[in-house]
Amino acid sequence: MNFSNMPKIELHCHLDGSVRPKTIIDIAKREGISLPTFDQEEIKEELIAPMDCESLDEYLKRFSIPNLVMQSKENLKRISFELFEDAAKENVKYMEVRFAPLLHTQMGLSVEEIIQSVIEGMKETEEQFDIKGNIILSCMRTMSVESAFEVVEKGKIFLGEGVVAIDLCASEEEGFCGKFIEPIALAREYGYRVTIHAGETGIGKNVLEAVEWLGAERIGHGVFIKDCVEAYNMVKEKQVVLEMCPTSNVQTKAVNHFSEHPIYDFHRDGIKVTVNTDNRTVSDTSMAKECDLVSNEFAMSDEDYKIIYMNSVEASFADEKTKENLRKYLLDI
Ligand SMILES: [Zn+2]
Repeated sequence: MNFSNMPKIELHCHLDGSVRPKTIIDIAKREGISLPTFDQEEIKEELIAPMDCESLDEYLKRFSIPNLVMQSKENLKRISFELFEDAAKENVKYMEVRFAPLLHTQMGLSVEEIIQSVIEGMKETEEQFDIKGNIILSCMRTMSVESAFEVVEKGKIFLGEGVVAIDLCASEEEGFCGKFIEPIALAREYGYRVTIHAGETGIGKNVLEAVEWLGAERIGHGVFIKDCVEAYNMVKEKQVVLEMCPTSNVQTKAVNHFSEHPIYDFHRDGIKVTVNTDNRTVSDTSMAKECDLVSNEFAMSDEDYKIIYMNSVEASFADEKTKENLRKYLLDI
């Protein structure tokens, strides 16, 4: 299968991990921001997490450079536009992009201005290319519970205007869900859909708690349900959809090698999996590349791909009309 020509859907992609290296240099030069290097190849080395990265925390260090150039409305809009453009050009028909608004307030932008700018970039791409999108607001679990409330409250006015869901991300500790029960419950009450990063770093039980305590409809990664029977059975029974990101999972050492990735075993056992990039720049990848990887490693058939594509359609936080259009692309496969 040639995945670059196939219709694709992406449900798990971080804005700050997917900034074009050239754009970072461009903005930094124009605004006098200091970078470790202004050479495009050298900056790539600073941005891309190596495959022999030691952990998720090591991987997350790569996000400090992009965030230097994501502090103005104009730049956020441009970066959002370019990410959707990159996706559209590789035949991604629908993409949900997530970001943590509180990382972009360093130069005085309000949370509302930040969200508005990212939405504007997305809408501009929707007008020019054959792609639809939605935005997920991420709360950093390394920040306070109050900060999560702030994101939920301030993002509320954008529900139905481009924002669809709330997420918890960053460094994963055992039992983190307990701390965020209230802000996520409030988010659900306001109408946010819920997806939570969990089971990315060895703790399968976090997946169980994300679903049972936070009402997560989808799980970011969920690799470690493989080591937690209770979480595994619950995910399978409730058909909770996993947003899996193979390259990223190797870089963060969730798995040591692609061949050990549980995605295909999960799929064969009736668990609903989806394929995603996580971070196009930090993981130096694309949707076509991730699909190729899964296909080559596990001899994924056309039928498998159709099932995974449909998992993404049905689990997306898109409206029914968008879903209907996405189902039609499957006829071309
Ligand atoms: Zn992620």
